[in-house]
Amino acid sequence: GRTIGILGGGQLGRMLAMSAAQLGYRCSVFTPERESVAGEVCAETICAPWSDAQALQDFAATCDVITLEFENVPVGPLGPLKDKLYPPARALEVAQDRLEEKRFVEGLGGKPAPYHPVNTQEDLVAAVDRIGAPGILKTRRDGYDGKGQWRLTTARDADAIRLPGQPTIYEGFVRFEAEFSVICVRGHDGEVRFWDSARNEHSSGILARSSLPAPAIVGEQVVESRALAARVAEALGYVGVLTLEFFATAEGPVFNEMAPRVHNSGHWSIEGAATSQFENHIRAICGLPLGETTTIADEVEMDNVIGSAIDAVFDRLPEPDTHVHVYGKMRASDGRKMGHVTKLVR
Ligand code: ATP
Ligand code: MG
Ligand code: MG
Repeated sequence: GRTIGILGGGQLGRMLAMSAAQLGYRCSVFTPERESVAGEVCAETICAPWSDAQALQDFAATCDVITLEFENVPVGPLGPLKDKLYPPARALEVAQDRLEEKRFVEGLGGKPAPYHPVNTQEDLVAAVDRIGAPGILKTRRDGYDGKGQWRLTTARDADAIRLPGQPTIYEGFVRFEAEFSVICVRGHDGEVRFWDSARNEHSSGILARSSLPAPAIVGEQVVESRALAARVAEALGYVGVLTLEFFATAEGPVFNEMAPRVHNSGHWSIEGAATSQFENHIRAICGLPLGETTTIADEVEMDNVIGSAIDAVFDRLPEPDTHVHVYGKMRASDGRKMGHVTKLVR
């Protein structure tokens, strides 16, 4: 069978489907959202809520293998899909909850920033007492692009914070020299391959740029960070692309969070690596041999195109060895990822 089901309808699914098509697979998308930029390039789009277990099972019946581009799919209804689902639901479970994620990665030798679960105002006071300020309060679930986060500059800021009515976690603010991510792919046979780690720069909690080569400190800390990523992948029985985000600090790599999927900081691999993260994810979940992950340029710079900046993105088309990607989203609201541009120097 050659039909791949993708849970989630965003740009990551779109780029997965484009890679799948190259290998002769057809994709079908399941998404609760009416607009689906993944669905536009797929054979079929099923629009139903995640909680519709029957719709999900009907969808699964038409697919040979199922994967995801959105990590917050509720895990319960995925139970009956488990024989076809890569990565496994356990990886989602862990990655969906910042507290569980940190404990899991700590158990495998990773070092997150100091953290404290916060459910009440008293918890927050205790957390700031123990960890100090500055720090960041984050919802345990459903955060992305810096949403669901509140920064505390001083301990006094704790009084002014109104808790969001869902479990949160307080983290010490990490004074990092650079941010990077380890992106790897694990095959059915347990083989793991890594892409080079780019430097990631964020603006207002959103990834703005990923660039290679990364500063020397990233290179120094990537060996240890890759070993951790491999242990995480192994422990989860992972198949597909897995991402771990890190802060490079004077004290070594600090684990930030993981994503059980292809990652924005790996978009450069479409033109900048021998095999992209999208193609290798498809290869892994379909049981095909993995491709080389080698970087094929001396320098790579991937810029995200956020919000209305998309209107001017074709201005970059004349630049040499520059590759413009437009996701085709209808509304360019503030902070929305609309496309990206990758520039290579070979
Ligand atoms: P993503 O879109 O990557 O899933 P997210 O909403 O899950 O984002 P985080 O990765 O937790 O958010 O945080 C977003 C960014 O905010 C980080 O990449 C980093 O730049 C900054 N940040 C988050 N936590 C910390 C911290 N403890 N110390 C310093 N900076 C932090
Ligand atoms: Mg995240
Ligand atoms: Mg992040």
